[in-house]
Amino acid sequence: MTQAKICFIGAGNMPRSIISGLISNGYPAELVHATNPSAGKLDALKADFGIQVSHDNIVAAQAADVIVLSVKPQLMQMVCEQMSHLDLSSKLMITIAAGIPASRYQDYFKQPIKLVRTMPNTPTQIGAGMTGLFADESISAANKQICETLMQSGGKTVWVKQEDELNQVIALAGSSPAYFFLFIESMIQHGVKTGLDEVTARELAQQAALGAAQMVVQNPQLSLEELRTNVTSKGGTTAQAVETFEQGNLRGLADQAMTNCKKRAEEMA
Ligand code: NAD
Repeated sequence: MTQAKICFIGAGNMPRSIISGLISNGYPAELVHATNPSAGKLDALKADFGIQVSHDNIVAAQAADVIVLSVKPQLMQMVCEQMSHLDLSSKLMITIAAGIPASRYQDYFKQPIKLVRTMPNTPTQIGAGMTGLFADESISAANKQICETLMQSGGKTVWVKQEDELNQVIALAGSSPAYFFLFIESMIQHGVKTGLDEVTARELAQQAALGAAQMVVQNPQLSLEELRTNVTSKGGTTAQAVETFEQGNLRGLADQAMTNCKKRAEEMA
């Protein structure tokens, strides 16, 4: 990334993950600025990453080339309106807030702005995140590159072509770590119910989940169906379990859960 001055407005959990990735990738700490009303949060960011910190959103935004809007969605309007008297025409805005459509930011800032919407997920904390990004045609390739590199500090990125596809990003990646947690949790509960101690049950289930995910990633030439049938002998143990999931309509349930997830994202917009 060109050496842009980046400012995170509302540096809570998600910006902390992105900042951690940026600094460990060698981005100069003196070019990164974070704001938060909490002195404790700012002290920790300064101590851990050596970045600049302040309580003042306006001063930080004024000095930045790239402004990452990171407050909770319900505070976004107030925080943007506070900055609306600034000339923001040269700045790239990146929002990580769920739900708020790009057009609404123009209203909040009371001026045309260059905005990229992003939707990260929590594995960004460990560098294994997935972020969906949306930019309209007014955003230059150079600015898209800045945004991509910034979000790749926490994992992978995918551009979507239509803004409303960000709701599908939420269903497939933003919310989905919790689906896998639930599945692994159910497996552990079964292990414990049938007599294993919890540590052993968790070790077995989490390693199987990790191994399965790595097999998917490392075998892009194989479909998921092939991966599954390769380990499912006719009449064997795996077949019994898989048939039980199919009879219980796991696919239909996943479809319904993700439809409801997307619907909720649309309602929150
Ligand atoms: P968070 O609560 O950890 O961070 C928000 C921070 O904003 C808090 O630390 C708070 O002190 C600070 N803040 C409050 N008022 C402020 C103000 N006036 N000026 C500056 N800072 C202020 O939340 P988070 O999990 O980091 O989420 C931040 C944004 O990221 C949200 O909009 C959320 O929708 C989005 N997001 C989060 C995730 C996730 O997995 N955590 C995923 C995708 C998107």
